[in-house]
Amino acid sequence: MPGSTRLPVSLPAFGKQSAIRSPARQAALLNQALDVLRHVLLILFVFRITRKTLLQLRGYGLVGSLQALYKELYKRGYGLFLRLPFVQAKVRADVDKAVADLEGKLVPSGPGVIKYTALPASGWTADQVRAELVKLAEMDHTRWEDGRVSGAVYHGGDELSDLQSEAFRKFGVSNPIHPDVFPGVRKMEAEVVAMTLGLFNAPKSAAGATTSGGTESIIMAILSARQKAYHERGVRHPEIILPETAHVAFRKGAEYFKIRMHMVECPAPSYRVNTRMVSRLINGNTIMLVGSAPNFPHGIVDDIPALSRLAVKHKLPLHVDCCLGSFVIPFLERAGFPAPEFDFRVPGVTSISVDTHKYGFAPKGSSTVLYRTAELRGYQYYVCPDWSGGVYASPSMAGSRPGALIAGCWASLMKMGEDGYLDTCLKIVGAAKKIETAIRERDSLKRSLVVVGKPMVSVVAFRSPLAGAGARDPAHAVDIYDFADAMSAKGWHLNALQDPPAIHVAVTLPIVAAVDDLLRDLEECVEKLRGKVNKDKGSAAALYGVAGALPDKSIVSDLAKGFLNTLYKT
Ligand SMILES: *Cc1c(COP(=O)(O)O)cnc(C)c1O
Repeated sequence: MPGSTRLPVSLPAFGKQSAIRSPARQAALLNQALDVLRHVLLILFVFRITRKTLLQLRGYGLVGSLQALYKELYKRGYGLFLRLPFVQAKVRADVDKAVADLEGKLVPSGPGVIKYTALPASGWTADQVRAELVKLAEMDHTRWEDGRVSGAVYHGGDELSDLQSEAFRKFGVSNPIHPDVFPGVRKMEAEVVAMTLGLFNAPKSAAGATTSGGTESIIMAILSARQKAYHERGVRHPEIILPETAHVAFRKGAEYFKIRMHMVECPAPSYRVNTRMVSRLINGNTIMLVGSAPNFPHGIVDDIPALSRLAVKHKLPLHVDCCLGSFVIPFLERAGFPAPEFDFRVPGVTSISVDTHKYGFAPKGSSTVLYRTAELRGYQYYVCPDWSGGVYASPSMAGSRPGALIAGCWASLMKMGEDGYLDTCLKIVGAAKKIETAIRERDSLKRSLVVVGKPMVSVVAFRSPLAGAGARDPAHAVDIYDFADAMSAKGWHLNALQDPPAIHVAVTLPIVAAVDDLLRDLEECVEKLRGKVNKDKGSAAALYGVAGALPDKSIVSDLAKGFLNTLYKT
């Protein structure tokens, strides 16, 4: 029998020593107890490993699990290779050079550039400041004003911008953390939430909050789900199940809150999340399911009713990300376009993120997160009852918040109205359909570009037919990243995507006016590039071409961090 060794020390005796409680006997008893404990621990250990293995096999299947294992080993091996001194020196040099190139492009320098890195000894006149602001606004840039930028600037027209400036002027000092000082801001905030809830067919029980943007809305919904799971079910090792196309803000939130992520494939031809795989990944630690309506990369709406059935069956929260769909997707049906099911009318949907600063045309820094019940919203609140600074309570991440943005948002919603948003839906989705149809049908485009899935709202993504399924005549093939670089050279800022390699256009009102220019330039770039795959690489081609081929992304991360550093270079 193992564990029968004698303890080297004798135990202190309690009371009078009897024959039964002799030191030898006590030691034997203790040894037995330790032995049992050892067995229990072993059983627990084996049970945990078995459970983890079974969950892994159920979620990812045998082949999937082996593939994941292989990928992980390959990645680690590659990571070790990168750490070899001579490799590292070469990588370092390449990264430094790429970052220096980037800096040259982003940070103005030269004799004409005056840098202000310290306070002026005596303050400027208002006119001096104004003149400098004009110069700053007019710095050489990609022309969003001419509809050259995908997404990014969700402009609602000059009249609306002027109105927003007036709202800023009136509420510049305001802060909703002091509702007694700024009662008008409190009223506007509550009304923005109420109007958005109505638009997404929320039930009477529903509640919501405004935030600084889509990322914060999503992070709040994750927090709410995590707190709910912890308080109601005691979940200490939370897991979240994400479509791999879900916005990166979910990964950010999961990383901030130490939540394990399960990434679910969104396979061709529909590019919607594989709900059978979602189902297999649900376990006792799951805190939330997620769907996008639509997602950022491809503008595809996931199968929300199928996700809803899973959420209801397993009593789990389901978040639908409508950050991008925002004020366009609720108007699809009325505008006469095919409309998916995505809002609170689908019974399992418990929270929705809606960016007022996208197609709501509110000023940047404004979004909402909506919940089916006020209780769910309560789980995102932060309250500190015993701070020396007083009892403290705030609804979301920030403490002080800009009341001016709430006023700007409220003014935008009121100015636009239902008819305004219906009209922009017609224009924006109409333009997206025009782009989609041209790529599918024009002889000049259809043999070189393929639309990704069936986009339903404002984003159209397209890839080269050689990447993945549907390979066609190599004489018509284009390298999609070279294509992105060629479009950049013509003044366009489209979004490069990976897995699969593709690019997309998110249509905004400025783009609506430039659609014919866009189609003409798409045709010209196809004409120039077809049949020339794998020639000289431009910057998008270089980054994504290399990034896609690397098993270990640490080089890409280094580059991205270098990019972030350049944002703070004067
Ligand atoms: C834009 C967007 C978000 C949130 O982005 P923010 O930049 O934080 O506003 C979330 N989901 C989707 C699908 C988006 O397009």
